[in-house]
Amino acid sequence: METELLKTAVPLLLGWYRVHKRDLPWRENRTPYSALVAELMLQQTRVEAVKERYVAFLNRFPTAEALASASEDEVLKEWEGLGYYSRARNLYAAAKVIAKEGFPRTWYGVRALPGVGDYTAGAVSSIALGLPEPAVDGNVVRVLSRLFADGETDGPALRKRYSAALRAVFPPETGDFTEALMDLGATVCVPNGAPLCEECPWKTLCRAHLANEEGHYPVRAEKKGRRVENLTVYVLKCGEKYALKKRGKGLLAGLWEFPNEPAGPASCRPSMEKLFPFDPATCHSPAEKVPPQGPTSCCPLLGEVPPQGPTSCCPLLGEVPPQGAKGVLAAKTAKHIFTHVEWRMTGYLVETEETDPRFLWATAEEIREKYAIPSAFKAFTEWVK
Ligand code: SF4
Repeated sequence: METELLKTAVPLLLGWYRVHKRDLPWRENRTPYSALVAELMLQQTRVEAVKERYVAFLNRFPTAEALASASEDEVLKEWEGLGYYSRARNLYAAAKVIAKEGFPRTWYGVRALPGVGDYTAGAVSSIALGLPEPAVDGNVVRVLSRLFADGETDGPALRKRYSAALRAVFPPETGDFTEALMDLGATVCVPNGAPLCEECPWKTLCRAHLANEEGHYPVRAEKKGRRVENLTVYVLKCGEKYALKKRGKGLLAGLWEFPNEPAGPASCRPSMEKLFPFDPATCHSPAEKVPPQGPTSCCPLLGEVPPQGPTSCCPLLGEVPPQGAKGVLAAKTAKHIFTHVEWRMTGYLVETEETDPRFLWATAEEIREKYAIPSAFKAFTEWVK
């Protein structure tokens, strides 16, 4: 049933695509390598954000060999701002495989590259290798579930079924077909707001449209909420240099960041409200059981500060300079949303007299040129001048 409908839908879609295809930089002078770069960049990232960065990345690393021979820091720096840095690491690892073994010629070979899932393997295989392999993502699910008026919840089983349905009707123009589905989902059967059915090549076939029920599809599983993490971020400035530290395992692993720590008890952390004016009494509320002379338990980042009375517990704010800190120059809050986590950050620009050896100290220019700092810290990077 779905196959029959698709057999009619495919030529209409290809005809529409020839007239309406988007002009995108990765559709010019394409190679399997450049298609892989584009598809990895486009994972979880808007087309508009990728456009400029793709061109710059390809200029810097025009071939898999050029990418494979760069250092990881160079690759991460070039990826800066795109987020989801594991993609950059995977692309780097994939380039090393390709430089050694050549670009794979089958879907399975592409799928085996680091960072490549079923969707990316399908996209690269059909677009760059001419293989009849579908690429089913949320956009394709939206478009097809409306075409079929399909009430099945989006998930692996549905995507597998749609892949099989598409594989059965794949036309010889494999890349055009994949990109036509992408373009229809991005520009006509849009993800946000009402679909533009009057402009759709499928308006006379689409079951959801004919029933005036476009908004009923796709059926989505209930989403889990994001975990909220509160962080205190310290932009430590000593002369012309700023403190950086490399992240360990997990989220944004291996990237550079400003020293930060989980925000602790409200009485201990300098919140925006408490910052100006500072009131030691509120910083050391006995009700919150924060030991007034316990710097290590209270401010672990600055834990070596000898207890010198209540102000030693929140030295950034008090009269007791932490490791030579002269004072807080600025403060602000910022939020960054990852797929599963939300960071709520309070950041402080602090002038210090000494360069704490626990950190790498770099000038603003070095930070701009050399060290990749995730865009999660963008609000605080603005202090680095
Ligand atoms: S007719 Fe409307 S709902 Fe159906 S595929 Fe086209 S844009 Fe989407």
